[in-house]
Amino acid sequence: MTLTPPQTTTAPASDAPAAPRKRSRPTKRKTEAQWALGYREPQNPVEQWKKDDHPLNVRGRITDLYAELGHDAIDKNDLRGRFRWMGLYTQRAEGYDGTFTGDENGDLLESPYFMMRVRADGQILDLDRLRTIGGISRDFARDTLDITNRQNFQYHWIEIENVPEIWRRLGEVGMQTTSACGDCPRGMLGSPLAGLAVDEVLDASSALDEIVRRYIGKPEYANLPRKYKTSVSGLQDLPHEINDIAFVGVNHPEHGPGLDLWVGGGLSTVPHFSVRLGAWVPLEDVPDVWEAVTCLFRDYGYRRLRSKNRFKFLVKDLGPEKIREILETEYLGRKLLDGPAPEPVTKVRDHVGIQKLKNGKFAVGAAPVSGRVSGTMLLQLADAVERAGATEVRTTPYQKLIVLNVEEDKVDQLVAELEEIGLPTNPTPWRRGIMTCTGLEYCKLAFVETRRRAIALLPELEERMADLNSQLDVPVTVHLNGCPNSCARIQTADIGFKGQLIEQPDGTKAEGFQVHLGGSLGADLGFGRKVRQHKVLSADLGDYIERVVRNYIAQREENER
Ligand code: SF4
Repeated sequence: MTLTPPQTTTAPASDAPAAPRKRSRPTKRKTEAQWALGYREPQNPVEQWKKDDHPLNVRGRITDLYAELGHDAIDKNDLRGRFRWMGLYTQRAEGYDGTFTGDENGDLLESPYFMMRVRADGQILDLDRLRTIGGISRDFARDTLDITNRQNFQYHWIEIENVPEIWRRLGEVGMQTTSACGDCPRGMLGSPLAGLAVDEVLDASSALDEIVRRYIGKPEYANLPRKYKTSVSGLQDLPHEINDIAFVGVNHPEHGPGLDLWVGGGLSTVPHFSVRLGAWVPLEDVPDVWEAVTCLFRDYGYRRLRSKNRFKFLVKDLGPEKIREILETEYLGRKLLDGPAPEPVTKVRDHVGIQKLKNGKFAVGAAPVSGRVSGTMLLQLADAVERAGATEVRTTPYQKLIVLNVEEDKVDQLVAELEEIGLPTNPTPWRRGIMTCTGLEYCKLAFVETRRRAIALLPELEERMADLNSQLDVPVTVHLNGCPNSCARIQTADIGFKGQLIEQPDGTKAEGFQVHLGGSLGADLGFGRKVRQHKVLSADLGDYIERVVRNYIAQREENER
């Protein structure tokens, strides 16, 4: 191990004649509070309360105490901190007008209700699961339900008294909210077509299931420096470049199908794409390697500043070679095999529409607007899927739904029924390409409306640009964030909007967005360029998007995205 704890240093000696000067005080280099270097004392309040009581312990208090005593009895460090480890965030208070950002604890913005996130982990949602998720929404969440851009489900309006019953129902169908938020391994991405796609390198779902089974809910993996995002897929249909750890299907010339290991991706205010470690991992070794990388991040990750403690900062500082060396020598105790890079894809695969599967059946992908569904819609979906003789659905990281294993003679019937319940399988490019975060409607950190804005904006975009639909041979993605945190991945969209309040000539502030243009994953990998002059008021979004798209169509070169 070549990393060394920082030394106390003094100013260098000087040969110059002694002149009266102030004695320089010894300066102490700041540490990043890495556990592996012996820095175990918490250096910020979050690390302190994580040390005081492991966040996973809050589950017992929720079931045995808070659900009985009610919201007012909840300890503040549980409410705004440890609850996240159980997938619970406090929800923004109703009536917020966008002009007051609250105090540092979020006071005055909180309601007594919670947002609850349910992990999907790339799992198949059978009819029982669909009906359980939909039923919980109707019974406890005012029929709210959103599909997040990490394939998870998100409820709103959850009351603490109902949480044990929600967990009981989810548990009965093998689903959970554990570690859905917080400084831990969050809901993991898996290919929506795992085991079914004609062109997948391998079916990686067994490795993903095993990671969840072995490691989720275990205390030793649930106090990481910061959130930790995982992607495992034998098909390149996931945004693997922006995950903390990703396994991507690749064929090794000697060893055959396996997975290429990437680390250190993440967006937010300082975006980084993940980097390859150059290691090829056989499918059966993926859980062990995931554990080793996760423990490396746990021990070496920076714990001093909350703004600098994602894995991406450590990966950037050490570089992929050093990360691989530490991984092999200190955590795995063996060398990993070198392997080739996967061929980058040129097209986003959101799985909307109809695809033939390798078993001869079909997948039918549908597009809710920016992931907004409802409990009622999910129950209707389950009925439609059952009538079509199918039983399985997955979500996608583009906030879409896909029905799997549909017999050819049932496809048309299913397509018609999905259309009727508001899930079109042949949407306009605008509906297909729009993605948002939660925004002002429920998120305490938001400056602006996002999902509700997109839902209102979509008919306008569809009308304004109806004449362009046939000319768009490549999709145009439009992503909206409510703040700089980039939950909707704005830096990877063709047109990304970062929510902010914009000062008006009369000194008032209005909801608007900073524009980022030209972001992409895959073969054209690159972050969208922030165009400083392009700040758009929310009311002018339609105008702006139309102008950009018409200029792009008029001026683009052949095959230019
Ligand atoms: Fe909330 Fe900001 Fe994330 Fe949107 S991007 S959900 S506003 S934290």
